[in-house]
Amino acid sequence: MKLPKIRELREAIKALIKGPYTSKFPVEPHTPHPNFRGQPKFDDKKCVGCLACEEVCPVEAIAHKDIVMDTNDAARTMIHYTDTCIFCGRCETACIAEGEGIKQSGDWELSFFDRETESYETIKKDLQLCEVCGEPLACKDHLKWITQRLGELTFSNPTLYLAHLKSLGITDENIVSALKDYGRSDRFKVLCASCRRQTTLTTKE
Ligand code: SF4
Ligand code: SF4
Repeated sequence: MKLPKIRELREAIKALIKGPYTSKFPVEPHTPHPNFRGQPKFDDKKCVGCLACEEVCPVEAIAHKDIVMDTNDAARTMIHYTDTCIFCGRCETACIAEGEGIKQSGDWELSFFDRETESYETIKKDLQLCEVCGEPLACKDHLKWITQRLGELTFSNPTLYLAHLKSLGITDENIVSALKDYGRSDRFKVLCASCRRQTTLTTKE
């Protein structure tokens, strides 16, 4: 009979004292190592809907959908496809909300009963619309994030200044102007880049 080597004997004794290396999953829930980097999760309170994470994701596991029902009901849905994600962590590194908008968790589970409905997670962010053309401009929280970083420089940009007043509740939300002359009357509004260009370059008084 072949005798076990010393190293194997040492491992067997260690396993008897400390318990086995393997977990008893699925009989018992598996607890990953504290440093395990698993599924990233959105935090709807911290995420500002800037799309930087979508931009850097190497496998297109992050996407978004902008849905405008009317001027008071416009939202961006951020989607994380949990069946596509490779847990690389680039989204967390690129997140402008100091890595708090999307953060890797200890969640490692990748099995679903229904892939169509269970293989993704979503959060919703309110959208700011252009007050002339009604197209989505950015998420309201993103505009707020920009104004907080710019400080008093915000007051040199009518769009950011007005967005700041809206976030304070001083001016009305998402009013889309009936008058669209791209002239002086439209200049002091929350505008998308295209409408800002037209109102700035127009010669109309
Ligand atoms: S962890 Fe990597 S693959 Fe997964 S969503 Fe983030 S960037 Fe994409
Ligand atoms: S704030 Fe972070 S999580 Fe939210 S969209 Fe931007 S990069 Fe992604």
